[in-house]
Amino acid sequence: MSTSDDLFARSKLVSPGGVHSPVRAFKGVGGTPRFMTGGHGAFMTDVDGRDYVDFLSAFGPLILGHGNAAVREAAIGAISRGWSLGTTEPYSLDLAEFITRRIPWVESIRFVNSGTEAVMSALRVARGATGRDKILKFDGCYHGHTDSMLIKSGSGLAEATVADSAGLDHATLSGTVVAALDDDAALEAAFERHGSQIAAAIVEPVPANYGLLPQRLAYLQRLAQLCRKHGALLIFDEVISGFRVGFQGAAGLYGFEPDLVTYGKVIGGGFPVGAYGGKRQYMDLVAPSGPVYQAGTLSANPVAMCAGLATVQQLADGSLYARLEKLGQRLDAAFATQRRITLQRVGSLFWFYLVPPTAPIRSLADMQARPAAPFGPLFHTLLEGGMYLSPSAYEVGFLSAAHSEAQVDAMAAAVLAATAHLPSG
Ligand SMILES: *Cc1c(COP(=O)(O)O)cnc(C)c1O
Repeated sequence: MSTSDDLFARSKLVSPGGVHSPVRAFKGVGGTPRFMTGGHGAFMTDVDGRDYVDFLSAFGPLILGHGNAAVREAAIGAISRGWSLGTTEPYSLDLAEFITRRIPWVESIRFVNSGTEAVMSALRVARGATGRDKILKFDGCYHGHTDSMLIKSGSGLAEATVADSAGLDHATLSGTVVAALDDDAALEAAFERHGSQIAAAIVEPVPANYGLLPQRLAYLQRLAQLCRKHGALLIFDEVISGFRVGFQGAAGLYGFEPDLVTYGKVIGGGFPVGAYGGKRQYMDLVAPSGPVYQAGTLSANPVAMCAGLATVQQLADGSLYARLEKLGQRLDAAFATQRRITLQRVGSLFWFYLVPPTAPIRSLADMQARPAAPFGPLFHTLLEGGMYLSPSAYEVGFLSAAHSEAQVDAMAAAVLAATAHLPSG
């Protein structure tokens, strides 16, 4: 028995499924999750002392890799000065100014502790701003685990929805309207039917939580247009894409100015941080300047603020994004001539879908129409080879600035070798 087997058996006795977030349990790939003791640069190390090239990057935050010197120094500096204050402090001001100066549609920003909290708060602001109740969301996007977002389209009736979890408040769910991604008719119908009641539409502009599903620009533009026409706010959930696909996130990449935007992951440099921000007219509604209540004991924690600032400071001039794009292009090149698996990529986000690359996958319907070969064997072959991909067919991979070209090439070669038996399309 490996040390991880032993630790997992013990964990299952004291925590649900032995984990503190479901995907860590390896349910989607089988086997026992590896217990990691730490990370350095591009690597994670497990309890048996084995190193893995880390393509998980902590599910996104570690765009600079593990142990980045400036981030470490900033965090340690904050710890030595005092790691929690519960007062106003200069560190969140520095981070807020750094961001608002560089992202024009973020005129004002509030820091919270997770992406879920950021989304929950942004939705409240939208309801407060419009006096309306309904929120439009899209199947194929993830917005954290606040009740109103844990809902998806039901089969059958166009309007039917089903809860994505037990234990939800059904009164809350009735306020959520759901449309499929990449479905123009569903988008038009949602506004036609509910337009006057929709407080906001929330979308991942680069959906990256059920695979990576880049959308047609015209589709996102139509969404923005319909929001404006019906007086609904447009919320970009950039918890995963913010500071990841570019400093200004997907909004900057595609040329949008959302009314509200949510951040998480990269913005905390690997510490627990979320944020929501946007146009002043909306953010001024937030307490104490306005009537929309939102608070947090540990919000804008100094360690997280200093680590976050040290992270975004290294990203602001854009050169790291250029380097990450180059690394990503090596993946494109490695998969360009094969006909067995689909690689979808936006900057440093990548996703392998194990079907022949015949057409882009943009929605859950596209995936249902073209079911993939099992992901588990590929995952475990790479794990044995010392490479850690996200432990689910539907989680994306993350390149970091700590990865070398050789590591990316080796991963691509390993994926190709491990999938050589799949049918060619
Ligand atoms: C990760 C994620 C969230 C949830 O953030 P947590 O910090 O896990 O609560 C919300 N939205 C998107 C787009 C995400 O990728």
